[in-house]
Formats: sequence, C-alpha cells, structure tokens
Amino acid sequence: MTGQVSVLPPTQSDVRLHPPCGDASLQAVAMQTRVQGHCAHGSFIDSLTGVYNRAYATGRAQQWLRSAQAACVAMLVVNVDGFSRINDIADYDLGDRLLRSVAQRLAGTVAANDLLARIGGDEFVIVTDGHRDAPALPAFAQQVLALFVEPFVIAGREYRVSASVGVARSNGDVRDAALLMRDAGAAMRRAKTYGPGSVRFFTRDMKEAAQRRFAIEDLLRDALDAGEFRVAYQAVVDAASREILGVEALLRWTSSELGDVAPAEFIPIAEQAGLMEAVGDWVLEQACAQVADWRWSIAPGVTVSVNISPVQFNERLVQHVAACLANTGLQPSALQLEITEGMLMPDDPAVCATMSELVKLGVKLTIDDFGTGYASMSYLKRFALHGLKIDRSFVAGLPGDRDCAAIAHAVVKMAHACGMSVTAEGVETEEQASALHAMGCDTLQGYLFGWPGSAADYAVRLTGAGCFASARPLR
Ligand code: C2E
Ligand code: MG
Ligand code: MG
Repeated sequence: MTGQVSVLPPTQSDVRLHPPCGDASLQAVAMQTRVQGHCAHGSFIDSLTGVYNRAYATGRAQQWLRSAQAACVAMLVVNVDGFSRINDIADYDLGDRLLRSVAQRLAGTVAANDLLARIGGDEFVIVTDGHRDAPALPAFAQQVLALFVEPFVIAGREYRVSASVGVARSNGDVRDAALLMRDAGAAMRRAKTYGPGSVRFFTRDMKEAAQRRFAIEDLLRDALDAGEFRVAYQAVVDAASREILGVEALLRWTSSELGDVAPAEFIPIAEQAGLMEAVGDWVLEQACAQVADWRWSIAPGVTVSVNISPVQFNERLVQHVAACLANTGLQPSALQLEITEGMLMPDDPAVCATMSELVKLGVKLTIDDFGTGYASMSYLKRFALHGLKIDRSFVAGLPGDRDCAAIAHAVVKMAHACGMSVTAEGVETEEQASALHAMGCDTLQGYLFGWPGSAADYAVRLTGAGCFASARPLR
C-alpha cells in the first residue's frame, strides 16, 4: 500500500477535492487536477468521471487511518445495480455517460471533507474521516441511495438504476485502507443479496465469508490442473413412463483444502475470477465424451444437458461446442445447452448471433430455472428454444400450494403453445410427480428419480441393471 501513497498530491487543498456538478466543470476539474497529478505525482484522477481513482483513495485513506485524530474512518462502497445490462442493451458510450452522471450526483452529496473515488467499472467509494460519527452513517447511506430515486436522463431518455451500498468503519481498529475497502466491498456484495437498492454494514460474519471467498478463488485457480473437478449426472425421466430419457451434467468440486464445495458457492466466484470459461469447456468435453460413449455402448437414445454460464455465452462457445461434437461423435440433437433467462437479450446482436449459430449446429437450447430471471419474455418468440425447465421453487409447493400449481400449469400451457417441451426440476415426492404429469409436463428431474451420481453409477442405471436407489448421492 505504501507504494500507492506516492501518487498523492502534496497540498491539503487537493486532498478533499471532489469535482463540482455539471459535465463541463467535472471535466475541467479532472483536466486541471490531472495535469498536477501527472507532473509531480502520477495520475490520481479517474479519467472517465473526473473523481479520484482507487489508488488515490486508498493512499489518502491510509494516511487518515494512521493519523491519531482520525479515530473512525468509514468507507461506503457504492455499486450501480445491473450496470452490465445497460452496457448490454446499448453501446459503451451510454454506460460511460451514466457513470459520469452517477459521479456527479455522488459528488453533489459528499461533504467538503469526504473523498469520492471510482474504484471499479461501476463502483465508487466515499471515504469519510470521522467527521460523521457512527450513528450518522445509516442516514448518510440512505441519502446516497436516495440519489438514485430520480431517473438519469441521457440523450433525452430516462434510465432508472439503483445502487447497493456497503459500509465499513474502522473505529480505530482497522489500520489498513485496502482491508477497510475490502470489508466495505463485502458489505456491498451482501447488500446485493437483499435486492437492488439495499445497504448493509460490515459485520464479522461477512469477514469470514470474504475470507472464504478469497480462499475459494485462490484454490480454484489450480483446481482444473489438479484434477479436483468431476462431473455428476442426474436422470431426466419421461413424466408418463418414468423411463430415463437423458441426464443433466452437474459440476462437482472437491478441494484438497476445503473438501466438497457446492456449485452454488464456487461457480459465481469462478465466473467473477475469469475461470469459468475454461471449467465450462471442460464440463462440456467430459459430458459429450461420456454420453457419446453411453449412446454407443448401452443407451442409444440417451441425451445430455449441460449448464452454460453467462461468461461462456459467446462466439467461442459455438466453436467449442462444434469441436466437442466433432471430437466425440455425439449427435448434435443429443446435446441440450441450459441457459438462463438473463442471458437472452433479444436486442443484443452478439446474443442473437450466438443463438442462431448454436441452433445451426443442431444442438437444443433450454431455459433453466424458468420464472426466476426477471426477464422480458419477448425472447420466447425471438429465439428457437427447445424447452423450459420449471424452477424447483415452483415444484416444491406442489401439489398443495395453489400459487405454485397455477404457475406450473401456466408454464406448461405457454411452453406447449409455443412448441416447447417442459421439464420440472426438483421433484422429490410422488405427489409432485403425479401433479406435474397431470398438468402435461413432459419430463421430470429430481431426487425422486435419482440423486446426481457418478458416471459409473449411471452406467449401471442406464443398462437397466440398477434401480433408482443405487445412484449414490455425490453432493
Ligand atoms: P441447475 O442447473 O438448476 O441444477 C439443478 C440443481 O438442483 C442441482 O444442484 C441438483 O443437484 C439440484 N437438485 C436436483 N434434484 C433436486 C431435488 O429433488 N431437490 C433439490 N432440492 N435439489 C435438486 P447443484 O448440482 O448443486 O447445482 C446447482 C446449480 O449450479 C445448477 O442448477 C447450475 O445452475 C449450476 N451448475 C452446476 N453445474 C454446472 C456447470 O457445469 N456449469 C454451470 N455454468 N453451472 C453449473
Ligand atoms: Mg441446469
Ligand atoms: Mg435449474
């Protein structure tokens, strides 16, 4: 951290400077300050927004933390909710302009002796050196959230975005600015789990969660080479005959240090760390090879579904799928790719191109966890989809819960009307299976028909020699 302190300007007058509002004045301040910064101290201004950058904020906060009078330095990390969607639906210029507007609003609310910086793509930090005492922080955080109530007007159009805020406060106990920023970031990520427009204050359990997250990210980097991943398979059965029609490939990780880690925990971390493309490629290769082998040796009609992460969904995926099919000899129609609603932006040319290239390859595309994605349903008519998977949260309430029954029923009707098939996932009881069959659901998946099991377990089941109970849980 000490290296970053060297970027600081020397005069106190610069220290708390944050740009005034207005695009022109914002840039003027940025330009002016950048000149000083470059001449004597290197760059400490974020060139996009004109507020300080991460290095400057960390360095200055470090000084405050070390100074005796700054008993309680606090940081508010502010992240724009759903910013990637703005970049997805429009060009990057719109995203840049939005970030500048956000910076202006934040700049207008921080006090003269607070410090505002942009510390990541859509992330800002407000550092306050103790003039706001602890009881004042919740109100200040709410004040920051309130800045997002009014829509942002860019090129004559209104854009509504909210923000998530995480707050961490040193109270004299934290002496490292980077750690304090990390804690505020952890609180912000926790706030995100409460939905858009939430605030959370850093607590001890978040520290433990943040430490585990760092450990997982670190260990994941070597997991593929170390052979710590494996693929489990779970049966997908015909709703009427209960015969196995296919399997879903599910990634499993047993870390040498942490033991079994659930996909719901490590996959988002792998995605953010840029590791999921390679791991997803590996799952696809394994699943295609395994199912091609089963089709050739024991179960000619069996199909396989593979989950695709949003970070994989691009032109490279098309090439990799084609290579897997060519290398394994798997018939394209035997491969289903499970994608989620959030990936399908009908207006995004890159998404449309990837979808149509995959369809051209002859593979099938299915929407996983249908009903949980808050997406516009216009993609249903835009793309050639093979089927929908009803999320298990709707299946869990069957047959008693009237809302779940109504939703499941509506999904089946709608899918069939659009020429798609329907799979229900998370089927655990005979009553659920019967209710779904009665609604017209085509295929079922869940513990009732077998837990995710190893390839060896499923080889036994597929040859008909095993029974449902023989598929040992691998979770
Ligand atoms: P998913 O694709 O919706 O997979 C179904 C999940 O439900 C699996 O969890 C499965 O073990 C679980 N499940 C199956 N039957 C039942 C049941 O009767 N009751 C309950 N409560 N759960 C059931 P798992 O294996 O932990 O995977 C969680 C999620 O992780 C998957 O949800 C999928 O989104 C993701 N995932 C798993 N493998 C991969 C992969 O290779 N690539 C990507 N991108 N994501 C994956
Ligand atoms: Mg799935
Ligand atoms: Mg699912």
